[in-house]
Amino acid sequence: MNNTRKKLIVGNWKMHLNVHEASTLLHRLHEHISAHRDVEVVLAPSLLCLQPLSVELDRHKFRLAAQDAYYKDEGAFTGEVSFSMLRDLVHYAIVGHSERRIYFGEDLKVVREKVTAAVRNKITPIICIGENSEERKAGETKQVIHDQLTTAISNLTSRDIADVVIAYEPVWAISTFGGQIAKPDQIEEVIRYIRYQIKELYGAKAAEQVRVIYGGSVDDSNAGSYLEIPGCDGALPGSASLSYHKFAAIVEAAHRQQLKQA
Ligand code: PEP
Repeated sequence: MNNTRKKLIVGNWKMHLNVHEASTLLHRLHEHISAHRDVEVVLAPSLLCLQPLSVELDRHKFRLAAQDAYYKDEGAFTGEVSFSMLRDLVHYAIVGHSERRIYFGEDLKVVREKVTAAVRNKITPIICIGENSEERKAGETKQVIHDQLTTAISNLTSRDIADVVIAYEPVWAISTFGGQIAKPDQIEEVIRYIRYQIKELYGAKAAEQVRVIYGGSVDDSNAGSYLEIPGCDGALPGSASLSYHKFAAIVEAAHRQQLKQA
């Protein structure tokens, strides 16, 4: 694994904070986070906040991600916003988050269409995959990861894959769904399996290049232990990203990890 590449920390603010509150959090983050060359910090506020935050944020410190978008570029789809509309506003988009799959019925094909639309519009998808607790107990984790991963990326070329981010987010570890604390060795095993699947489909180089991050109740107390997992390129904290001191501590943990590995 290439140790010199940046760690990626993505804060998913979910459906929290109006424009004023989001701007206040951005300012607090700006005060408490230093720019590190070895850590990329991405903020995923609500759709409504993307435009105002884009003009306020320090681009040396932060990038923006959408939490979701629709896969058609335009048309009669009342209420939706497309990846093509977000094209110059965000670097990243979270796709297939378990809250979208569970609450909004997004199936494997919808996730695949969204990944394809993101890449078509030059937005890097952060593809969330992960098993629920019943699937883990039944020994189906690898099957679920296989199905979610291979369907999501099935329209991509090996060149596309190099730029994609896979977020391993076991549903049982996400605060929304119980928030059990995953053990680093459980995560390591799945990350290894994700890279194995990419290698089978796209070859060794793509498997090495693809970024794989972890999400599931990551906070300032456990981030260090997750960020040192071999093959783990970063973290996707949800709840903890709404607290500027926790989120800043996660970014610092990533920087410390990078210094250790250098
Ligand atoms: C998430 O939003 O993807 C997430 C993992 O949330 P939390 O950190 O709150 O579990």
